[in-house]
Amino acid sequence: MATIRCPICEKQFDPAATLAMPFCGDRCRQIDLGRWLRESYSVPVERKDEDDEGAPAAPRNEAE
Ligand SMILES: [Zn+2]
Repeated sequence: MATIRCPICEKQFDPAATLAMPFCGDRCRQIDLGRWLRESYSVPVERKDEDDEGAPAAPRNEAE
């Protein structure tokens, strides 16, 4: 039986036994997601909003 190693807890598991691929379970998937979110929050993402030129609430940009 082929098993893979969970990148979070490094446990060998059967990929057919989980829906949380590539993690061994939803718990490890949440841990990875939490790490990812924390890293992205530490980056100055707010500057992206300033590039919006303060335009009114109009997601569409037909000028392009
Ligand atoms: Zn795991």
